[in-house]
Amino acid sequence: MGKVTGFLEIDRQDRRYAPAADRVRNYREFVIPLSEAANRDQAARCMDCGIPYCHNGCPVNNQIPDWNDLVYNGDWKEALRNLHSTNNFPEFPGRICPAPCEAACTLNIIDSPVTIKTIECAIIDRGFAEGWVKPEPPAKETGRSVAVIGSGPAGLACAQQLRRAGHEVHLYEKNATPGGLLRYGIPDFKMEKSHIARRVAQMEAEGVVFHCNVHVGVELEIAELLERHDAVALAGGAEKPRDLPIPGRDLDGVHFAMEFLPQQNRRVSDEPLGNVMPILAGGKHVIVIGGGDTGSDCIGTSIRQGALSVTQLEIMPKPPVHEDKMLTWPNWPLKLRTSSSQEEGAERDFSVMTQKFEGRDGKVEALHCIRVDAKMQPIEGSEFVLKADLVLLAMGFLGPVQDGMIETLGVDLDQRGNVLADTNAYQSSRDKVFACGDMRRGQSLVVWAIREGRQCARSIDKHLMGETNLPR
Ligand SMILES: Cc1cc2nc3c(=O)[nH]c(=O)nc-3n(C[C@H](O)[C@H](O)[C@H](O)COP(=O)(O)OP(=O)(O)OC[C@H]3O[C@@H](n4cnc5c(N)ncnc54)[C@H](O)[C@@H]3O)c2cc1C
Ligand code: SF4
Repeated sequence: MGKVTGFLEIDRQDRRYAPAADRVRNYREFVIPLSEAANRDQAARCMDCGIPYCHNGCPVNNQIPDWNDLVYNGDWKEALRNLHSTNNFPEFPGRICPAPCEAACTLNIIDSPVTIKTIECAIIDRGFAEGWVKPEPPAKETGRSVAVIGSGPAGLACAQQLRRAGHEVHLYEKNATPGGLLRYGIPDFKMEKSHIARRVAQMEAEGVVFHCNVHVGVELEIAELLERHDAVALAGGAEKPRDLPIPGRDLDGVHFAMEFLPQQNRRVSDEPLGNVMPILAGGKHVIVIGGGDTGSDCIGTSIRQGALSVTQLEIMPKPPVHEDKMLTWPNWPLKLRTSSSQEEGAERDFSVMTQKFEGRDGKVEALHCIRVDAKMQPIEGSEFVLKADLVLLAMGFLGPVQDGMIETLGVDLDQRGNVLADTNAYQSSRDKVFACGDMRRGQSLVVWAIREGRQCARSIDKHLMGETNLPR
C-alpha cells in the first residue's frame, strides 16, 4: 500500500470531458487524461483492502490494489506487466468499460471510489507511448493449429493467448477489418479505431493469421475448418437484434441501431459502405428506442450528424438517482446514469410503450406512444404522438445469428439461443468446437468477452496438449 492516509487526504478526481459544444463537431475521443502527478495521487487513495472487492467486481480479476501501489511508487512498467497479466487489451476497457470494479470499491460506500478505470487507462497508454508494448511471439511451436471465428474482443483475446502458447492460429472475420463491435458498433468518439489497429499489428507480428472478408458458413464451410484445424473457437458475438413488431415497422426510416452505427464507423475510417442505403440523422427528428449503451451510441452519432432533435424512449421506469448502498454494494446498482452522449442533448422519457409508426408515402413521420404503469400495463388516456423522421431500434440482442455456421454445426444451444458451453471447459456439444464471448453468454460487455476469450484459450490449450500454463 502506497500512502496509508491517502484516502483521507486526497479527494477523488477523475478525467473530464471536452465541452459538449466542441466535441460534437467531430468523432474524436474527448476524454481528457489526468496528469502523471494526478494519477499518482489518485492511486494513493487505494486502501489495499483486506478483501479487495474491486478485484472481484472486475470480470478479468485485475489485481487493482497491486497496480495502484506500483503507480503510486512510480513503477509504471511493472504496473503494465501486472495489468497485462490479467487482460490482453486494457486500453479497451480503460476507455469504454462501465467499471463494475469502481461500483465494488470499498470507497464507493461513500460515493468516491478509487478512479480505477482512469488509472488502468493511464498505465496502458503510457506503455504504448514508452514503447513497452511489444510483440511476444512464442518461444517454441507446438505443431497444433486452431481456427478462431470472429475477431471481436473475445476472438482477439483467445487468438493472442493461443498463439503465445505456440499454436498456429487463424482468425476468420466476415467484416473487412478486425475488431467486432469494438470496430463497427462502438463509435470512434468513445474509442478511436487506431487502438485496434496497433493490437492487430502486434498479433500479426506474433504470428496470428487474420482472414478478413471471410463469412464462415457462407463463403467458407465450417466443415473445411474442422478438417484443417485441431480445434475451432466460436467467437461470433450475439448479433441478432430484438425487433419491434408493431404496425408501420416496415416504413422507410425505421432501422436497427446496428444498421445505422456501422455505417458511420465506416465513414470515419474511409471504409466503403458497399451497396447499402445511407442512413443519416442530419436535419431529422430522431427517436431512439432503448436505453442501453447501443441507444446512447445512436444519440451521440445522431447529434454529430446534425439531428434536429433526439428523443430516447425507455419502457422501464426511471430508476432512482442514488442507490441504497446498504442493499446494493458491492454489486452493480440499478440507478439513473447519464452517458456522455445523453449529456450532449437528448430528451429522455421513461415508462413509455410504443404502439405504432405512422407514415406518408412509405416514410415514417410519427410514433404513437402510451405511458405504462409499474406493471408495464398501458395507462388509458396517456397516449401521445412524437414527430419522427428516423427511428433507431436499440432494444438489445437475442443471441447469435443461427443461420449458416451454427445451424450447420448443429451445436446445442441454451434456453436463450446462445451456444451451450460451460465456463470451465468452454466446450460445445461438438468435439473440438469451443465457444466464448457474446456467442456463448449473450450480449454483454467488452471486459467479459476478453475474460471468456482468455479462459477459452486455456481450455483449448489443455485439450490440445493435455496440460496448460495459460492463466484463467
Ligand atoms: C452499439 C454497441 C455499443 C456497445 N458499447 C459497449 C461499451 O461501451 N462497453 C462495453 O463494455 N460493451 C459495449 N457493448 C457490448 C460489447 O461490444 C460486446 O459485449 C463485445 O464486443 C462482445 O465481444 P465478442 O468478441 O463476443 O463479439 P463481437 O464484438 O460481436 O464480435 C464478433 C465478431 O464475429 C464476427 N462473426 C460473426 N459470425 C461470423 C462468421 N460466421 N464468420 C466470420 N465472422 C463472424 C462478427 O463480424 C464480429 O466481428 C456494446 C455493444 C453494442 C452493440
Ligand atoms: S476496493 Fe478500492 S480501496 Fe479497496 S483495494 Fe480495491 S481499489 Fe483499493
